[in-house]
Amino acid sequence: MTTDTKRGAGPGRRAEAPDVLIVGAGPTGLTLACDLARQGIAVRVLERRTAPHRESRGKGLQAGSFDVFEDLGVAEAVKARGSEGVVLRKYFDGEHIKDTAVDGGLLIGQWQVEEVLRDRLAELGVRVEYGSRLTGIAQDAAGVRADLEDGTVIRAGYLAGCDGGHSTTRGLLGIPFEGSGEEEPAMVLGDVRAPGLSREFWHQWFSSEGGGILLCPMPGTDTFQLQAPPESDERGESLPPSLESFQRLFDRHARMSGIRLAEPTWLSSWRVNVRMATRIREGRAFLAGDAAHVHPIAGGLGMNTGIQDAAALGRSLTAALSGSAGEEALDAYQAERLPVAADLLADTAQRYERVVAAVREPGRGTEAGLE
Ligand SMILES: Cc1cc2nc3c(=O)[nH]c(=O)nc-3n(C[C@H](O)[C@H](O)[C@H](O)COP(=O)(O)OP(=O)(O)OC[C@H]3O[C@@H](n4cnc5c(N)ncnc54)[C@H](O)[C@@H]3O)c2cc1C
Repeated sequence: MTTDTKRGAGPGRRAEAPDVLIVGAGPTGLTLACDLARQGIAVRVLERRTAPHRESRGKGLQAGSFDVFEDLGVAEAVKARGSEGVVLRKYFDGEHIKDTAVDGGLLIGQWQVEEVLRDRLAELGVRVEYGSRLTGIAQDAAGVRADLEDGTVIRAGYLAGCDGGHSTTRGLLGIPFEGSGEEEPAMVLGDVRAPGLSREFWHQWFSSEGGGILLCPMPGTDTFQLQAPPESDERGESLPPSLESFQRLFDRHARMSGIRLAEPTWLSSWRVNVRMATRIREGRAFLAGDAAHVHPIAGGLGMNTGIQDAAALGRSLTAALSGSAGEEALDAYQAERLPVAADLLADTAQRYERVVAAVREPGRGTEAGLE
């Protein structure tokens, strides 16, 4: 085993005590890891999952993310996997009403973005450590100590909690996550096949009785991302996502009897949560991405904001580690990104309300969240 404790552990060698320990290998953690590693800063990336996922989840990348990806040398690889421009096909009560072309972003599954970033990170000599769950944090003036579920202890200069909306890091640091949330799911989600359904459009069916179903063709796959308000049982409680429930929702709103949904590879529920951390720095530990803020998905800003957080945190940590600015550089991260998070919460809550209102009108769809 190597015992590198300084920057520049070098390709293929794991720094036992890295400069920066990153918790979470989603888009935020991977972006930060690539940014630091390419500058010769020793990083380790912990991920509690035992292997990479293949879930479409966040499926839109915007221009600001490409500025970051250009710097990391992954913009072309990401673009090659996605598709630019998508046409929303809107139906009402089963009738095709209108098509709307949406430009200016890249449609791509979140797992594919993560795969490109992981490949780049591997080129830089860093591999994600799967099956590694953070369970404890302690820190002093000299560094951070992280405890993992399996008893491993890692010492690092700094720790970046990029561990999603249920962030363990945030909980361990005792940072409040203020805002509001709903108990009942607003949507069920999944990746499914729909043989016979055109893959040229993001199909959006809405009904005068309320509700609807959306099927978005995911590039480079034969699956669609499905989104729909959930079915309810006789007591009015939401039913969990399942292929059978997806098919009933599809039959009710799309009214295309020949299409059978098949082979779900991801099933999930989504609840409205509008919350942000009251601070994103606690000494030598930081929060970024969904760990710092969660909000409605209308407008597709979650993953994109996490990528921007990562770029900002990368700048601060690089400046602090190079000795050029120290505390001032570390404070700059919170000063820059906390107001962005607050604006994001207000903005996406309004976008979500616009979409909910718009889809009651024939011919309208999720483009209302982009206006
Ligand atoms: C249907 C849907 C559509 C969306 N559409 C868009 C869109 O179009 N555009 C957009 O920008 N965003 C979109 N989003 C939001 C986007 O998916 C999230 O904002 C994004 O995943 C946040 O990335 P992250 O890296 O911060 O967190 P995550 O992706 O949640 O990654 C956190 C990682 O940390 C790991 N982890 C957690 N706890 C621990 C621990 N204790 N130890 C080690 N590892 C841990 C988790 O396993 C996970 O891999 C959408 C989301 C959904 C569900």
